Amino acid sequence: MTGPNGGSPSGRHFLQIPGPTNVPDRILRAIDRPTMDHRGPAFGDLGREVLAGLKAIFKTAGPVVIYPASGTGAWEAALVNTLSPGDKALMFETGHFASLWQRLAERLGLDVEYVPGDWRRGVDPAAVEAKLAEDRGQSIKAVCMVHNETSTGVASRVGEVRKAIDRAGHPALFLVDTISSLASIDYQHDDWGVDVTVAGSQKGLMLPPGLSFNAISEKALKAAKTARLARSYWDWEEMLKANQTGYFPYTPATNLLYGLREAIEMLLEEGLDRVFARHARHAEAARRAVRAWGLEVVCLDPAEYSGSLTAVLMPAGHDADAFRKTTLERFNMSLGNGLGKLQGRVFRIGHLGDFNDLMLAGTLAGVEMGLTAAGVPHGKGGVQIAMDYLSGETAAQDA
Ligand SMILES: *Cc1c(COP(=O)(O)O)cnc(C)c1O
Repeated sequence: MTGPNGGSPSGRHFLQIPGPTNVPDRILRAIDRPTMDHRGPAFGDLGREVLAGLKAIFKTAGPVVIYPASGTGAWEAALVNTLSPGDKALMFETGHFASLWQRLAERLGLDVEYVPGDWRRGVDPAAVEAKLAEDRGQSIKAVCMVHNETSTGVASRVGEVRKAIDRAGHPALFLVDTISSLASIDYQHDDWGVDVTVAGSQKGLMLPPGLSFNAISEKALKAAKTARLARSYWDWEEMLKANQTGYFPYTPATNLLYGLREAIEMLLEEGLDRVFARHARHAEAARRAVRAWGLEVVCLDPAEYSGSLTAVLMPAGHDADAFRKTTLERFNMSLGNGLGKLQGRVFRIGHLGDFNDLMLAGTLAGVEMGLTAAGVPHGKGGVQIAMDYLSGETAAQDA
């Protein structure tokens, strides 16, 4: 007998992929209710409450729209609402998710300049400034970047990229994917002058998959008035009109909205700054364990370490997927796989969302035991080093 994820049927499965993440009991309880009439009188209160609450999470005074869709839908929505066929978009190859967004943009008929990258670093603000400074005719209509590249565990510096756009004095729209950073790593839609923020429910927001978001600036709303890419389901206009009274132009994911209300409440109860500090601390403990094992994290620049996940390179000659199979079968724990060109070479430890010290210690214990069971050469004592750090025995250095 095996459990629903393939491991042992007894005890709790450790879902340590970097999304979907563990859904806390409070949110499961909130979702476990009869589905309400989405045109009835009570629904408007729920709608208005979540639409207002999201502003605090995105740190914006502007509107946030909610789609019953995975994050990919919100990627498409950000582009089709603001751009026209043949418009030039500047994108950066930070990893697998940046590449998926790039391909989506090309399929929509945009002209993408894709700045190559080595999948170990984030977006270089100096490169953004240089590309925009070169564009004297201002043919670039949008700069698109992934905040936290979930395939590599590299978090780009969105605020620094904003400053680079401003230094170049370029009017391009600024579109940012925060699907695996929102509510895990500090993010400021308004202060960083982002025009469209793309997010999803199933990572830092601790919800099941099924919702995605666009936070929208005044400038993006203005661009939407003249943008000519075909859009219907994703159209902001209909959505925003209905949202004024808390309703939706088509059936929303009603029960997930109960969960969203609970998630927003939980995040604000803990305090966003404490949420970000918790993630950074768990990430630091995870990296210390990785170093003690004698393994290498994918992210090369400490200024770009991700709080959401840690991607780890396998030693040469060892397959990351065989190791992951061992941790699942022996210890009932799912780890993230290597994506795209990192397949088989990398495993990813998700430490985002509803998470605490003992869950991290258990996760790292599963990795260390898995390395032994799968015959992967490594140093012992990574878990101990992480525990020393978590218990305060070793001082915080770069946390
Ligand atoms: C998970 C993820 C996506 C894809 O979202 P889906 O919900 O699978 O459509 C896109 N970008 C990033 C950075 C992600 O982490």
